[in-house]
Amino acid sequence: MSDSVLRKATSFGRWTGVELLQYKREGEAPFSGVTRQVLFEDAGGAQWRYFEVAPGGHTTLERHAHTHAVMVLNGSGHCLVGDRVYSLEEHDLVSVPPLTWHQFRASDSGALGFLCLVRHERDRPQLPSEEELARLRADPLLAAFIRT
Ligand code: MN
Repeated sequence: MSDSVLRKATSFGRWTGVELLQYKREGEAPFSGVTRQVLFEDAGGAQWRYFEVAPGGHTTLERHAHTHAVMVLNGSGHCLVGDRVYSLEEHDLVSVPPLTWHQFRASDSGALGFLCLVRHERDRPQLPSEEELARLRADPLLAAFIRT
């Protein structure tokens, strides 16, 4: 079973035997133009994924107890982590701490692809309440960034 050892890269951000998935189920949470690929389902208790956000698209604004270790593989964009917005370029690393609001956005001119490491066993993401959204949006920079 050579496939379980080596899954060759085909085009950029695609691999043989790695299924291109929806980011989340339709209607489960707000997002725009995001695909998900599970590169390693359970590698010693970790799951390694690759997400691609289409130009102008965004992931869900969410938080959870589990952490994210992210590396931007291609493209550029921004992310909100906690109460700050960070600019993202290729190969930048992002650490999302537990129970910290986060959202990734691609630039308008190109897709943003990033690798994301999580625990295989992990809690479900939480969405912000109206009160939480209002609190975040009290900061004009965050208000301008957040997509829901
Ligand atoms: Mn998350």
